[in-house]
Amino acid sequence: MGIRTVAVFSEADRSSLHVRFADEAICIGQAASSNSYLNIPAIISAAEITDVEAIHPGYGFLAENAHFAEICESCKITFIGPTPENIRLMGDKMAARTNMKKAGLPIVPGSPGVIKTKEEALKLAKQIGYPVIIKAAAGGGGKGMRICHNDLTLVSSLMTAQAEAEANFGNANCYIEKYIEEPRHIEIQLLADKFGHTVYLGERDCSIQRRHQKLLEESPSPVIDAKLRKRLGETAVRGVKAFNYVSAGTIEFLLDKYNNFYFMEMNTRIQVEHPVTEMVTGIDLIKEQIRIAAGEKFKIQQDAIHIKGAAIECRINAEDYENNFMPSPGKIESLNLPGGPNIRIDTHIYQGYTISPYYDSLVAKIIAYGNNRQDAVKTMHRALNEFHISPIKTTIPFHIKLLENPLFLKGEISTHFVQEMLREESKGEL
Ligand code: ADP
Repeated sequence: MGIRTVAVFSEADRSSLHVRFADEAICIGQAASSNSYLNIPAIISAAEITDVEAIHPGYGFLAENAHFAEICESCKITFIGPTPENIRLMGDKMAARTNMKKAGLPIVPGSPGVIKTKEEALKLAKQIGYPVIIKAAAGGGGKGMRICHNDLTLVSSLMTAQAEAEANFGNANCYIEKYIEEPRHIEIQLLADKFGHTVYLGERDCSIQRRHQKLLEESPSPVIDAKLRKRLGETAVRGVKAFNYVSAGTIEFLLDKYNNFYFMEMNTRIQVEHPVTEMVTGIDLIKEQIRIAAGEKFKIQQDAIHIKGAAIECRINAEDYENNFMPSPGKIESLNLPGGPNIRIDTHIYQGYTISPYYDSLVAKIIAYGNNRQDAVKTMHRALNEFHISPIKTTIPFHIKLLENPLFLKGEISTHFVQEMLREESKGEL
């Protein structure tokens, strides 16, 4: 787009690729994220001395921080994302549930508000039936959730969940939902401009998760047909229009075996897995986010958005799959990244780079495209085998096994798939 860029980095990220490629780069503090990537005054100072017009917050750290968005506004810097009100409304998962219910979206049966006492919890579990899931209202990143199958575990889990929520998120509020068994995680990508024009860009199936964290995402979902896509898409659009949402965003649904779907939460930012949507729609979501933030109209109408082919993303984490996904930071001595037609790699690593232990273990995303799911799987399989990195251990061997799994190939997956697959594997080793 011809926009000059300024990168911010912590002392631990001095040699990261984004620092090398930006027109300018400013160090904003020490490795600990509270001293750098979460340090609002340091980021704003960096923006002011380099005279930036806008800040793109990426998908971690302050990307869903309403206070940061407000500070940008008050410093006359455009925050490339939704309004602070939008972020605040969806940031509390419980409030989000209530608001989406008001907008007419189906929500998972559960508590209308915070569950404080064990008596309240037991009463609710009796109403909705076991299993149930306790969630932290301020939770995120797959953390702060506990599944309970009976009164006994419910009572003991509630107290630990509240204490953990307080310790991790600074907010002890928890609520309870019906635990949907063997669901799929289906999310709808949305784009909304400042003039109320809102569209959906198909779905992503993110059912391949370990400990509630996504490992592989794909678009389209192998079980969603045009009719269901339209229903999901229109429902999601209705949800965000109800509170005048602006920018890119995602509504996450749980889809059960009977094709019932329930609103789970909304992410008011771009997501790690957005490239699969870009591959199948041909729309560059980041460019659109920037244009929308600049006050431009989004010109594409809903009926001009088509899903073409299939795309898969594998998250390559610096984790030793053979050793219970143990983190594997350190220096990369040798690296070969795959390429060729229909492969996209998003990464900050290179040969000689040292993966620090400070941040998320995601080191690269491979995105494969094909005319259909089968083609995309084949291309991904080839790319995974061409990806060489040493001595760092990664999730590549896991992904290769996954792509060879007959049930995965048939598209018969749910959010329990990885757990089952790992259990089967450990049985084989005994
Ligand atoms: P986070 O914000 O931490 O990512 P989510 O609310 O998006 O949390 O939930 C993450 C994952 O947890 C979902 O993709 C799904 O696998 C599981 N999950 C959450 N709520 C339920 C539920 N009510 N029933 C079954 N699984 C659930």
